[in-house]
Amino acid sequence: MRKNIVAGNWKMNLSREEGITLVEEVLAKLPTDNNTHVIFSPSFMYLHKVAKMCANTPQVVAAAQDCSANDKGAFTGEVSASMLASCGARYVVLGHSERRVNFTESNESLKMKVRQAFMNDLKVIFCCGESLAQRESAAHFEWIKSQLSESLFHLSAEEFKNIVIAYEPIWAIGTGVTASTDQAQEVHTFIRNLLVEKYGNEVAESTSILYGGSCKPINAKELFASKDIDGGLIGGASLKSDDFVAITQAF
Ligand code: PEP
Repeated sequence: MRKNIVAGNWKMNLSREEGITLVEEVLAKLPTDNNTHVIFSPSFMYLHKVAKMCANTPQVVAAAQDCSANDKGAFTGEVSASMLASCGARYVVLGHSERRVNFTESNESLKMKVRQAFMNDLKVIFCCGESLAQRESAAHFEWIKSQLSESLFHLSAEEFKNIVIAYEPIWAIGTGVTASTDQAQEVHTFIRNLLVEKYGNEVAESTSILYGGSCKPINAKELFASKDIDGGLIGGASLKSDDFVAITQAF
């Protein structure tokens, strides 16, 4: 059985106090029988604090929003995977479209980041997804295939068990336009079939594939009811405890 996961991506939002309040509220509002794996991805600055706050709630953990492609050394301003692990992170989000577009991250550099994450026992939430122009020219399947194969498909089946995939169509991120359930399910099935081809049924069936892009309480239930959608990577709606908790309970 694969995990149902709801991961909140705070991006560059919230002060330290606001972040602490949000985590306190979410932890207080999550039902005691919560079965969803819940992940907070705060700024690097608050990662240690958030990880500590979640330490007694096994289903809730902290993730970083990125890590360096390098191990250590003269990389001013960078944060290494080992630093993240030492601050209590359990996951790292890699390949978010905002990083690919604004910080020119390539499939090749992401491959190096995945290596760093694994060397430090971090699981990876690996983002992929197409632009509107790619979807309109029906180039999205090939694009997603190249993102996954160039950054991930060198991994062994054993290593792949530490990957969560997040399908995030760029045209749906922060725009209020959600992919329809059929559009999302179609791509999730495509991704799962790629995993079957590359790694076989066992890995494909145990890999969680999340949807991201304007997911909210109002649409999460329908999206998560699809057989290949195992949860969400949530931006805007992860900043409000009521909305975020409602999404975690939408399965
Ligand atoms: C995201 O940033 O990963 C995201 C899905 O954002 P939003 O939910 O705001 O569209």
